[in-house]
Amino acid sequence: PEPPAAMAVPQAGQKGLILLKRIGRIDPHSLDDYRATGGYEALRRAFHLGPAEVIREVTDAGLLGRGGAAFPTGRKWQATASQPDHPHYLVCNADESEPGTFKDRVLMEGDPYALIEAMTIAGYATGAHLGYLYLRGEYPRALERLTHALAQARARGLLGGNVLGQGYAFDIEIRRGAGAYICGEETALFNSIEGYRGEPRSKPPFPVEKGLFGKPTTANNVETLVNVLPILTMGAQAYAAIGTPASTGPKLFCVSGKVERPGIYELPFGATLGDLLELAGKPDQLRAVLLGGAAGGFVRGDELDIPLTFEGTRAAGTTLGSGVVLALDDTVPLPRLLLRIAEFFRDESCGQCVPCRVGTVRQEEALHRIAERTGAAAADDIALLRDVGRAMKDASICGLGQTAWNAVESAIDRLGTYA
Ligand code: NAD
Ligand code: SF4
Repeated sequence: PEPPAAMAVPQAGQKGLILLKRIGRIDPHSLDDYRATGGYEALRRAFHLGPAEVIREVTDAGLLGRGGAAFPTGRKWQATASQPDHPHYLVCNADESEPGTFKDRVLMEGDPYALIEAMTIAGYATGAHLGYLYLRGEYPRALERLTHALAQARARGLLGGNVLGQGYAFDIEIRRGAGAYICGEETALFNSIEGYRGEPRSKPPFPVEKGLFGKPTTANNVETLVNVLPILTMGAQAYAAIGTPASTGPKLFCVSGKVERPGIYELPFGATLGDLLELAGKPDQLRAVLLGGAAGGFVRGDELDIPLTFEGTRAAGTTLGSGVVLALDDTVPLPRLLLRIAEFFRDESCGQCVPCRVGTVRQEEALHRIAERTGAAAADDIALLRDVGRAMKDASICGLGQTAWNAVESAIDRLGTYA
C-alpha cells in the first residue's frame, strides 16, 4: 500500500512554506478548501494582467524549469505564444520517473487544484485551449485526486468554455503513462499521446515550434507550473528575491537513503547540501550523496558546502537535476548500486539509437565483470567504461543516453570507487 502523502513531507504544516503550504493541511478533494487558502487568486490576477504581462512576470521572476534541465520558463512561454501556427498546446509533464524523485507526486496528491490552476494560467499565457496532463502510470492516488479535481473545476466554471466568466476556453485531459521512463522525455511523451511508440524525436525543432501533433507546444514539469502561482500572487520582484540571483524561488528536494527523516523538503535555493541533510537527519558516516538521480552524479560526503543552486552544483562539477538527494553511508555497497543504475538505463533505453542501445549494454557488462571480481576493476574495464561513456554522452539522441554514464563516471573520478 502507498503511504499517505503527508508522511512524505516532514515539514508539513511549518510556517513560511510556499509550494508545500497546503500539503497535509487541506482536504485535497475540496475545492472550497483550496479557494479558502488563496486558490484561484493567481488566475484572477493573470486575467487582469493579460497574456503578455503574465509572460513578463514569469520571465522577470527568473523561473527556471524544475524537471531537471533548468530552461527559462518565460522564454519557453514567449516562444510558444509567438508562433503563428495554431492550435497551441500545453503539456504538463507529470511522468515523474527519475529514480529518487517524488516531489511532483506529493504536489499532485496533496494539492491537485494548484496544478490545474497553474496549467490554466500557462494555457492562457501561451494561447492554448487544451492542456494534456501526462501522468506517471504508477501514481493511482494522483490520478484519482486529479480526476476528481478536474470534474469539480469544470462544474464550477473554472475550466470549460468560459473560465471564470472571462471568455477564455480551456480544458485539461489526463493521459496515463504505461511504465516507460523514456516517455518522460518530452518528445517521446508527445509520441505516446499521439499513439506512437515512446521514442524521442530529434531536437531542433523544439516543441515550442513543432511539438504535440506537430503544433507549437509548451511542455512544463509539475513543480515548474506550480511556481507560477506564487509568482503571480506575490509579484515577480518578491519572488525573485527568494533564492539566489541565478536560481530564484523555492525548490523541492527529494531526500532519501540513509537519513533519519526521508521525504520532500522545501528550501529557498542557496541552502547548502549540509543544511538540507541536517534537516533530514544526516547519518554519522556519510560516504557519498547522489545528486540529481541516476542521471546525476555522486559527490563525496565531505562536500557538504555545495550550494543547492543550478549554478552552484554546476560549478562543483555536478548537477541539481530534479532535486534528488540520496544519502549513502559506509554500509551501502557502491559497486552493487552502480550495477543497478546501469541495469536501469539498459532496461529503459528505447533502443532507437546505437550509442545508447549498445552502450548501455556494454556498460552493464563491464560493471558485471567488475562485480564478479568482488568489486576490483581491471584497468581495461575502466578504459572501456570511459570509451563507451564518452560515445553515449556525445552521440546519443536524447538525455537518457547522454546521461547514462554520469553516475558511474562520478563514482570512479570523485569517489575513487574501484581504485
Ligand atoms: P533539454 O535541455 O534538452 O531541454 C530542456 C527544455 O528546454 C525542454 O523543454 C526543451 O524543449 C527546451 N529547450 C531547450 N532549448 C530550447 C530552445 N532553444 N528553444 C526552446 N526551447 C528549448 O533537456 P531535457 O532532455 O528536456 O531534460 C533533461 C533533464 O531531465 C535532465 O537534466 C534530467 O535531470 C531530467 N529528468 C527528469 C526526470 C524526472 O522524473 N523529473 C526524469 C528523467 C530526466
Ligand atoms: Fe532511445 Fe537511448 Fe537514443 Fe534516447 S539515447 S533515443 S533512449 S536509444
